[in-house]
Amino acid sequence: MVTTHNLGFPRIGAKRELKFALEDYWKGKLSQAQLEDTGAVLRQRHWQHQSQLDFVPVGDFSFYDQMLDMSFLLGNIPARARHHEGNTLDNYFRVARGRSAQDTACHCVHAGEMTKWFDTNYHYIVPEFDAATTFSLDAARLLTQIRQAATLGVTAKPVIIGPVSYLWLGKTKDASDKLALLPKLLPVYAQLIDALAAEGIEWLQIDEPILVTELDPAWQQAFTTAYQALAPRKLKLLLTTYFGDLQDNLSLACALPVDGIHIDAINARHELERLQTLLPKSMVLSLGVINGRNIWKTDLHATLEWLEPIHRVLQSRLWIAPSCSLLHVPVDLRSENKLASHVQYWLAFAQQKLDELNILAQALNKGRVSVQDALVANSAAINSRKSSPLVHNPAVKAAVADINASLGQRHSSYEQRAKKQSASLQLPAFPTTTIGSFPQTPEIRQARSRYRLGQLDEASYNTFMQKEIARCVQEQEALELDVFVHGEAERNDMVEYFGEQLEGYAFSECGWVQSYGSRCVKPPILFGDIQRPKPMTVNWIRYAQSLTDKPMKGMLTGPVTILNWSFVRDDQPRSVSCYQLALAIRQEVLDLEKSGVRIIQIDEAALREGLPLRRTEWDSYLRWAVESFRIAANGVSDETQIHTHMCYSEFNDIIASIAAMDADVITIETSRSDMELLDAFDHFSYPNEIGPGVYDIHSPNIPAQEHIVQLMRKAAERIPTERLWVNPDCGLKTRSWEEVIPALRNMVTAAKQLRQAA
Ligand code: GLN
Ligand code: ZN
Repeated sequence: MVTTHNLGFPRIGAKRELKFALEDYWKGKLSQAQLEDTGAVLRQRHWQHQSQLDFVPVGDFSFYDQMLDMSFLLGNIPARARHHEGNTLDNYFRVARGRSAQDTACHCVHAGEMTKWFDTNYHYIVPEFDAATTFSLDAARLLTQIRQAATLGVTAKPVIIGPVSYLWLGKTKDASDKLALLPKLLPVYAQLIDALAAEGIEWLQIDEPILVTELDPAWQQAFTTAYQALAPRKLKLLLTTYFGDLQDNLSLACALPVDGIHIDAINARHELERLQTLLPKSMVLSLGVINGRNIWKTDLHATLEWLEPIHRVLQSRLWIAPSCSLLHVPVDLRSENKLASHVQYWLAFAQQKLDELNILAQALNKGRVSVQDALVANSAAINSRKSSPLVHNPAVKAAVADINASLGQRHSSYEQRAKKQSASLQLPAFPTTTIGSFPQTPEIRQARSRYRLGQLDEASYNTFMQKEIARCVQEQEALELDVFVHGEAERNDMVEYFGEQLEGYAFSECGWVQSYGSRCVKPPILFGDIQRPKPMTVNWIRYAQSLTDKPMKGMLTGPVTILNWSFVRDDQPRSVSCYQLALAIRQEVLDLEKSGVRIIQIDEAALREGLPLRRTEWDSYLRWAVESFRIAANGVSDETQIHTHMCYSEFNDIIASIAAMDADVITIETSRSDMELLDAFDHFSYPNEIGPGVYDIHSPNIPAQEHIVQLMRKAAERIPTERLWVNPDCGLKTRSWEEVIPALRNMVTAAKQLRQAA
């Protein structure tokens, strides 16, 4: 018999109940007891949904983040968050977000750093260490949840982060060696294991996802040390990996004294043969056979074809599960009412993925005939997607096949273009501009939502938006900025706005996925070949340009960012989807140019996010990502100035690729890091123009003119002044006009001061 289990269930709730409860609690509208109740109800519901499984995960639920839960479980709480009023939960939210529900603004502490969970869009709170860090077990929360699960009659398999990944994913605040903490950490894990065994737990899922990354010998050795220290013990360990293959960590994992290993069989299928020869006969093999990262139905027939032979060999040593925690997919497809029915037919959210898992288990245990109807229905859906004309557009495929290097090639070199551009644009030294969006006021949001709901007709909506554009233009005139933007009032989201106008995209109503804490995103679903039926932005930009003599930037989202922030197809490589998007954006760029727009910005806010987990795979990603941008941007004439924008400052390792995009101007986030980013320019001389952000738009603070001048002078030490621009870090949509106007006024005055000094 095959065993079924799940690595983690989305905790946010099908209707985002957890989000709303948390936010009410933080506002003081909900008591701690009420928040705890919501948590208990959600957990109970989620376990009931999973009750057909042999083991359900416990400990995957969290009020903010599972890594932060782990820090509290291990007693690793930053000193600044201890010794305040209230209880552990208050301290928990202090680390999570800087303050508990009862703290006033003056009582806040600085929140823990947040960073991306591997290559997902989930963000975790980074554990903090220093040489003096100690650990002590506080398992109360986990034990309570285990007891709650027990009353439901499900078999609990607690989920924790393993000791080596826990250390690796954290940061030392002094220069000390994280691995030196391992001997202090392991006894606490041993105590936890004893406590769980005393609860009657048979299996513990211990996540060591760093096994899918490149590890140096010291970290590989740490695995051996750690797991030897945790043996013998009174319960069984399922060492769990996900998001990739193990490569040279595979033999290491198989040699550890654990009772089973979970492998992401979606990403590491090619390793299964080697794995079966290396795996000791005493160990269970858990295979992640359902993709926990996408929203497509699994091809059950194809899965059984390769899974059945493995089952015949392993028999009851085989377990099956989704490839990773289902945290990364929406909860339940049955909540969808507005998705086009053909698209809905091809999809599976968390709940449906577990149904698929149960069908596979039955097919293995009792033969395919026992689930014949379900398999036939699944094949019908899979085949309909494979052959649907809504997915496959021969003209788009032909256009991708026709792509050649000349498509991404500007006519002349940057130096030649720059001369022509400066003659036609006539910009001063240190030209000033903004990144695109201006404040999104409640009135703007309301107008958009009323238009969506049909309460505002198209003509009134257009009039409203034109009025907003006019306001933006007026403000920019008054501020004496050099290059204008239209303000993006018509856009709720920089990816959704374009997705909605492209063929091949669908939008869910409730397809929320947790991004961090109470924040969720609803990634659009890229299901078919991408085509742009008509211009998407030209009318707005042309209108904006008609109001001023200053150059108005056309404003687009780039292909790589659209791709990285969507659920993408699994029936073709990401690169192909990206090229299709690139061709669509290229048409828009050319239409903007034709309508007289002289500067076009193509945002690639998420280019860095798409980097693969292993460095050895970076080159191939960067190659098609950069090529996609070049295809989108570089069809224009020499006189048209191409800008791009990126929202981060870790540039050192990819700067050559960024230069290869060959944008005339790049604007980047830098103000918070005090121009640290510019270190990258010590070793690489960036050839084109650059606008290092001088106004931190994530803070309500108004940057002083002097500070801006100082930052720009720092920049001028590395980059010739004739190639420097002056601009904020990112778009201004989350700020208010009251903040934006004085901040930009200081920025423009700073630029004038720099010009005089030059
Ligand atoms: N043009 C976008 C804006 O200004 C860029 C947003 C981003 O980089 N995240 O809002
Ligand atoms: Zn940005």
